Amino acid sequence: MKVAIASGKGGTGKTMVTASLTAIWDAPVIAVDLDVEEPNLHLFLKPEIAGRRDALMAVPQVDESQCNYCRACANLCAYKAISVFNTVVLVFPEMCHGCGGCMAVCPTRAITAGSRVLGEVSWGRTGSAGFLMGRLRIGEAMSPPLIRQVQAALMQAEGFPAGADVLMDAPPGVSCPAVSAVIDSDIIVLVTEPTPFGVFDLRLAYQAFQPLGKPMGVVVNRAGLGDADVYRFCGEVGLPIFAEIPYQRAIAEAYAAGQVLSGSSETMADLFRQLANTIRQAAGTFQEVRHA
Ligand code: SF4
Ligand code: SF4
Repeated sequence: MKVAIASGKGGTGKTMVTASLTAIWDAPVIAVDLDVEEPNLHLFLKPEIAGRRDALMAVPQVDESQCNYCRACANLCAYKAISVFNTVVLVFPEMCHGCGGCMAVCPTRAITAGSRVLGEVSWGRTGSAGFLMGRLRIGEAMSPPLIRQVQAALMQAEGFPAGADVLMDAPPGVSCPAVSAVIDSDIIVLVTEPTPFGVFDLRLAYQAFQPLGKPMGVVVNRAGLGDADVYRFCGEVGLPIFAEIPYQRAIAEAYAAGQVLSGSSETMADLFRQLANTIRQAAGTFQEVRHA
């Protein structure tokens, strides 16, 4: 089972939820940080990193001695990442999305695949769990291709137990990186807070992810802090509340110290064990209904 832990905005506590679930998950599990622009799951889980590699993306490389300047490549590229000026072909690697279209249409095979570094993929272990993370190169804008490489690395990273469950810390927001991260999941857990900002972004996240047709549920963090609008919205659209993490000073202090919350007290351990069971049941029920 693949669980995406997502949120409509940053700062709701989704990484803390991912880390806490990882620590109490009672089956083989891999924690995956797909928040590649600002990965910080490792700050909670403190993994032993066993390996890392550069994440590369194919970009065109032009041999102008083979080029007839027909402009087919420039005409095809929707991102203006390759241009032809008279007898000069210019490639702008930072704008290239790596689709390979220019290579496919070049009549003289003047274009071959070069590469540029998007960032890094690293893997290791945290306790009995596997750990995997992507980190985007500073200044790099293309996070979805790196997210896809991290997802692909789930199959390749050594030492991960076969058939393990996967807990994915998705990027915040509702744009391409967030959708790329959750699209591969079996269930989406939306972490929010009971404030006007929380309900506004939860509504966006629901609108963005609901068309994917996956089961979803909500974890309300800092419960008791604000108003009831989050609960009203969940009731209106039929989003189940999977868990509530109370707004308490001790929890805030554990979070500020980078502690995994499910390890901070027996009460918190119970809360996250129940959350894990609820997630499994919701994903299982959805599969049963779908296959009935
Ligand atoms: S498609 Fe190929 S031959 Fe035509 S301009 Fe581009 S690189 Fe040159
Ligand atoms: S690979 Fe795709 S995005 Fe990149 S330059 Fe070629 S056509 Fe444009």
